[in-house]
Amino acid sequence: MRAKLDELVTSALRQGSAVPAFTCYDFTTALAVVAAAEEAGRSVILLVAPKTAATPSGLRLIAALRALAHDASVPVCVQLDHASDLAVIVDSVAVGADAVLVDGSSLPFEDNIALVRAARATLDAKGFPGVVFEAELGGLAGDEDRAFASDSAGHDAAGLTDSSQVEEFVVRTGAQLLAVAVGNVHGKYKGEPRLRWDVLQDIAVRTRIPLVLHGASGIPADELVKAASMNVGKVNFNTELRTGILATLEAETASHRADGENLQGLLGRWTSSASAFAGTTLQTLSR
Ligand SMILES: [Zn+2]
Repeated sequence: MRAKLDELVTSALRQGSAVPAFTCYDFTTALAVVAAAEEAGRSVILLVAPKTAATPSGLRLIAALRALAHDASVPVCVQLDHASDLAVIVDSVAVGADAVLVDGSSLPFEDNIALVRAARATLDAKGFPGVVFEAELGGLAGDEDRAFASDSAGHDAAGLTDSSQVEEFVVRTGAQLLAVAVGNVHGKYKGEPRLRWDVLQDIAVRTRIPLVLHGASGIPADELVKAASMNVGKVNFNTELRTGILATLEAETASHRADGENLQGLLGRWTSSASAFAGTTLQTLSR
């Protein structure tokens, strides 16, 4: 069933857990993720990258994900990730995105707020009220779609969310979820990830809306569980899912080619890899 992002995350937090969000560049991965969520009996979030949503085929993928969410036996939300282009936001919502991360985190504070407000005003004007907004404060190192190693921002304050700005940002943007930079990065961690619990704690006491941790690939399971106790209700995974799928394809392609160009069989292995990762993650976060 389709679910509203804020309600899905809030209800998980009430039980002391977070909901995983997985980037789906394709339908095979999305099917695997939803199957794992159904198997676990837990909610899940399907993320669509802005580069995907910026193409006609990507918009058709969103429509397909919406149908998949509708058909699922567990609550599923489809969210447009890291969007800053108002036209892409409107197009994505029009075809079925239930939520959007309006990402002005690379902009100055006032411009970030203005972008989120402009997105809300534009959707209201186009007749799409009720879309759930995540906004982001603080700059995350790394690339969302291609994994290169980045330093965990934990050792210096640059890029970390400034907790003194949180209350004003949340009130003025009207965001329903807040993505934070507390030493997490997109892609791979250079060395050990170092989450700044002091900063996260300071943010958590300043707002009641659920917090979101991006770049969770590589963060140890016990730290993700600990984050949920500090109001982190949504955790985004992308790199680890891709790493697993690509490793599987690398290992399995030759034998499936030899087996009569068996694409169907290879897609089965792809599905198993994505389902296994999603299943393990769902289990970890629901501890
Ligand atoms: Zn992200």
